[in-house]
Amino acid sequence: MNSVKIVAVHIADFSNYFHDLARFKGLDFFGFYFIELCKYFLSAILIWFLIYKVFWPFTKSRRIQNKDFLFSEIAREIFFSLSHLLIAVAILIYPIKKYYLHTAIYYSTSQHGYLWFCTSFFFLILLHESFFYWSHYLLHTDFMYRSIHFVHHKSKNPSPFSSYCLHPVESFLQIIWLLPVLILIPIHFYVLSAFLGAALLVAFGGHLGVELYPRSLTQSRWGKYLGSATYHNIHHITEAHNLGLYFRFWDFWMGTDLTYTGNLPISHEALSK
Ligand SMILES: [Zn+2]
Ligand SMILES: [Zn+2]
Repeated sequence: MNSVKIVAVHIADFSNYFHDLARFKGLDFFGFYFIELCKYFLSAILIWFLIYKVFWPFTKSRRIQNKDFLFSEIAREIFFSLSHLLIAVAILIYPIKKYYLHTAIYYSTSQHGYLWFCTSFFFLILLHESFFYWSHYLLHTDFMYRSIHFVHHKSKNPSPFSSYCLHPVESFLQIIWLLPVLILIPIHFYVLSAFLGAALLVAFGGHLGVELYPRSLTQSRWGKYLGSATYHNIHHITEAHNLGLYFRFWDFWMGTDLTYTGNLPISHEALSK
């Protein structure tokens, strides 16, 4: 029975399974880093292959900007993404996995009740959304933009490879917030895995270069509060709008939202009106 439970835990979190394997094999720091690199390259290449090769006859008309990606741009995006993952392993993944840094992560659903088990996922998403919006808001102040955030904005037409293309200081900021949360707040292992999966999806989802959501969703009463590839792509064009991540409610409240309802590819003239 115990072994069934162990297998179930490992199936629920592939990433954790490989981390455990890396620790077991004694791969240490670079083992963990290698796993993060695999996750990044596999996700970006798979998305690229599906959107720009396999389904291109269908996705072509959903292109957000009418521009080709430049090889030099993608090489720069990969370089800074590698630095971002190195920082993620150094300050969060390695200390927790290797040294069993004391966290409040728990494994038994009954330990903090089913209500917290279900709501803690939304709590993490909303916390991340708020932290992201306000840290992003600060990163757009003059000094922080010129010295830090410009790295992400050098990609005017972001590709899937730009998902983690951040200045090292911004990488530190966007990762370190999770450490005190995991130490202080009890989060079930499955909930944490689901949250990390959602964070990965939204990072790549904002940089697809094509819009996969139908208009009937993005212009619906509730769907208009969802972040989308077009929503984040507009942020790369205007820089002053659309600072959120999963949702756009902070943008609506703070007056930073810019909704585009025209046809794709985006018309820059229509955006500036
Ligand atoms: Zn971006
Ligand atoms: Zn920005």
